Amino acid sequence: MVKGIIMAYKIETISVYEVFEKKCTCPLCSLENKLEADYVDYYLGNAAMLPEIRVEVNKHGFCGRHLDMLASAGNKLPLALQLHTYLCEQNKRVEKAARDYAKKCCGRSKSAEESLKKLGEVLNKNNDECLICKSTQENMDRYIQTLISLYFDESRFRELFNDCNGFCRRHFYQLLVHSRKVCSSKQLEAFTQKLVGLEQEQMHALEESVEHFTKMFDYRSKDLEWGDSRTAVSRCVQVLGGSTVNEKK
Ligand SMILES: [Zn+2]
Ligand SMILES: [Zn+2]
Repeated sequence: MVKGIIMAYKIETISVYEVFEKKCTCPLCSLENKLEADYVDYYLGNAAMLPEIRVEVNKHGFCGRHLDMLASAGNKLPLALQLHTYLCEQNKRVEKAARDYAKKCCGRSKSAEESLKKLGEVLNKNNDECLICKSTQENMDRYIQTLISLYFDESRFRELFNDCNGFCRRHFYQLLVHSRKVCSSKQLEAFTQKLVGLEQEQMHALEESVEHFTKMFDYRSKDLEWGDSRTAVSRCVQVLGGSTVNEKK
């Protein structure tokens, strides 16, 4: 067991180093994208046929974004098998809740409001309880934990972190929240100062780069170079949007 934990830590350490060495727009988005792609492969592979996995899928399902990724992966049969048993189980709940609300809908009673709320919960169950969102977020929490440990334990990683381009807004916030849980107050101050500084630099650089991009369409800019502004819009989309894993998990 201990050996297993050490192995997992080593694999997480290697993955964290790799994304910081790539110098991407948000290293945590890169980790998250890889995790999501691995889970899509997993649910379209042998897992689709394992009874214990099917029970979990029938109970929780997948959110719209991950269903889209599953459906776009080019192998629809394993997904169709899971969707069929999911629908067999969940349609009964939806029908029951919808009929209950239809009976109570007239008038403004509290019971009608409660019934509608219950129907909303049943209809949104797959988005709220998505198995890929849940597993991805659990793994991301461990990656963030590893990142913070490496920042204080390994000077080579600290240099990589200090030299990175910052993070998307969602992961910037997650790092701030997570560091409060695990850092001593001295560590917290050092880490937060550095992180906020990196984020400020990224925001200003992005602002300038997006403006530069817009200027390139002005005839008065014919002598200007594009520089890195060709990728300004896509970088901006990533910083503002990140990848959209369910935040409730
Ligand atoms: Zn991100
Ligand atoms: Zn999801």
